[in-house]
Amino acid sequence: MEVVKCSRCGAFYTNSGYVCPKCTNKDNFELSTFKNFVEKNGIEMQSLNQISVSTGISEKNLNRFLNYDGLEGYKKLFK
Ligand SMILES: [Zn+2]
Repeated sequence: MEVVKCSRCGAFYTNSGYVCPKCTNKDNFELSTFKNFVEKNGIEMQSLNQISVSTGISEKNLNRFLNYDGLEGYKKLFK
């Protein structure tokens, strides 16, 4: 089994998620907050920094979300 380091808390884990089991709920919650924010406000004229300020999600986590499956479209818009 592959051991991965959680990018949220630094703990090591072996499941196949993006983050460790302890962080999964928070990660999913922030991911849906991010998606809702973009759907509601659009992505034009929004930098990740602005979104970070408005949603309270760290820029580091927003950058990680852009690499998640299903967010390829967002990634293009921010590059
Ligand atoms: Zn974690």
